[in-house]
Amino acid sequence: MNTSNIIAPPALVKRDQKHDTKAIQKLDSAHYFHPFTDLGDSAQHGSRVITRADNIYVWDSEGNKILDAMSGLWCVNAGYGRKELADAAYQQMMTLPFYNSFFQTTNVPAVQLAAKLSSLAPSVDGRKFDHVFFSSSGSESNDTNVRMVRRYWDLLEQPQRKIIISRQNAYHGSTMAGASLGGMSGMHAQGDLPIPNIAHIEQPYYFENGQPGESKADFGLRAARWLEEKILELGADKVAAFIAEPVQGAGGVIVPPDTYWPEIQRIVDKYGILLISDEVIYAFGRLGHWFAYEKYGYKPDLVTFAKAVTSGYIPLGGVMVGDRVAKVLIEKGGEFNHGYTYSGHPVACAVALANLELMERENLPGRVKDDIGPYLAERFEELDAHPLVGLAETVGFSAGLVLVKNKATQEMFDPALGVGMMCRNHCFNNGLIMRAVGDRMIIAPPLVMTRAQIDDMMVLIRRCLDATLDDLRADGKLA
Ligand code: PMP
Repeated sequence: MNTSNIIAPPALVKRDQKHDTKAIQKLDSAHYFHPFTDLGDSAQHGSRVITRADNIYVWDSEGNKILDAMSGLWCVNAGYGRKELADAAYQQMMTLPFYNSFFQTTNVPAVQLAAKLSSLAPSVDGRKFDHVFFSSSGSESNDTNVRMVRRYWDLLEQPQRKIIISRQNAYHGSTMAGASLGGMSGMHAQGDLPIPNIAHIEQPYYFENGQPGESKADFGLRAARWLEEKILELGADKVAAFIAEPVQGAGGVIVPPDTYWPEIQRIVDKYGILLISDEVIYAFGRLGHWFAYEKYGYKPDLVTFAKAVTSGYIPLGGVMVGDRVAKVLIEKGGEFNHGYTYSGHPVACAVALANLELMERENLPGRVKDDIGPYLAERFEELDAHPLVGLAETVGFSAGLVLVKNKATQEMFDPALGVGMMCRNHCFNNGLIMRAVGDRMIIAPPLVMTRAQIDDMMVLIRRCLDATLDDLRADGKLA
C-alpha cells in the first residue's frame, strides 16, 4: 500500500486534496484505537474520514458535505474556519510555545485568561469566582474537583466528608474519577468503577420517570429530594459535594424541570455540602449565557469547563474556583500537590482568549438567548406532529427528540431494534450529523448558525425521520 500521501505532514495536505479513503481506513484500523468505539467492528467496516471543515459544515474524504449539528463534540461554538484562532495559536507558538506554571512561574496568556474568565463568571449573592485552575480536558478538570473538594474538607478538619454524590446517566469524563462520577452503567461495567466514595441518585428525566398525573413541577421537586434522601442515607457529615450538569448533555439533553435546581440549592445549603456545576457542554453560550448556572440561578462552588472555551480548536479545560473553596485553599492550604504539565498552556490560553473575544464581539450568548435559541424552539415544536416523535424539546441551542413506537401511549421501541441508530445512519447519509442516545436524537449546533441554516437543518431532520419511519413500516415494525 502506498501510504506516502496519507502520512505527509499536515502542511503538505492541500484543502482540496483527493483522498484515498480505502487506504486511510486500512491504516486507521491497523493502528488507531478510537475512543468509545467497537474496535472489531470498526476494523471490519472502516471509519468515516473527515478531512476539512468550514462554518457549520464538515467534509468527508469522499467529498460529501455534512451539516455538523453536534459542533464536533459540543465544542465548536464559534464555527469552523475561524482564522483569528489559528493566528492566535501561531503568534503564541512563535513567542512562547510552552512553559509550565509550576514552581511559582506563570505566563501572560494564562494570567489574562484566568482574569477574563473571572470577569465573565457572574457572582451570585456575592459569591464570586476570582480563581481558575487550568487543565486540558473536562475529565482532568473533574479529577481536579475531586482532589480540591477533599482537600477543602481536610483543611476544615472534616476529613470524613469524602463522598461525592452524582446522578445516573450523567457524563463527567473518562478518567477513573470522571467515569466514576458519571452515571453511565456501560462505563462502570468496565474497569471496576466507580472508585470508592462516589454515590449516585436518579436523573430528573420527566419523560421516563414522571408518574401518571404528576406535573412536571412536582416531579422536579421529587427528583431533587432524591438528593436529600441520599444525603440522609449516607450520613450528612460524610457527604463532601454534589456534582451535576445543568442539563445532562451526553445522557441525551435531559432538561430538568424549572423546580429542580432551586430545590437542589435549598438542599445543598441545608447540609452545607459543596455544589459542583459541570458546564463542560453548557458554558460559553449554549444556554444563552457565559455560564450555565446563570440561567438556572443556582450558586455553585466549583464550575467545570472545557470544550467551547477554545471552540474546540485546541484542548483546554479547567475549574472556576468560587470564593468559599479558594479562601480555604489560600489561607490554610500550603502547597496543593496537584497539577498538569499543560495547566495554563500558553498556546491553548491564547486561543481561548481569541475565541472569547470573538464570541463577545459576535454576541454569541445573546444570539442564543434572543434569536437562534427561540427560533430553534419554534421550529422544533413543529416536529411534535411527526408520527415518530414522542417528545421534541430544546434548551438554549441544543435539542432532544424522543422516537416512540406509539405516539398516543408514548410506548418506546424495543431497544434491540436500534431505531435511534437507524435514524442516525439516515442522517449521515443525508448530510447531517445528529447523535443518537438510545432512541433519543440530539443536536447542539455551532452558535454561529443562521436562521436560514436552521431551516436547512430542519428539512434534513424531517427527511431522516421520514426515512426511518419508512424503514420501520417496510420491516413491519410499525403499523
Ligand atoms: N463533563 C461533561 C459534562 C462532558 O460532557 C464531558 C465530555 N463530553 C466531560 C466532562 C469530559 O470532557 P473531556 O472529554 O474533555 O475529558
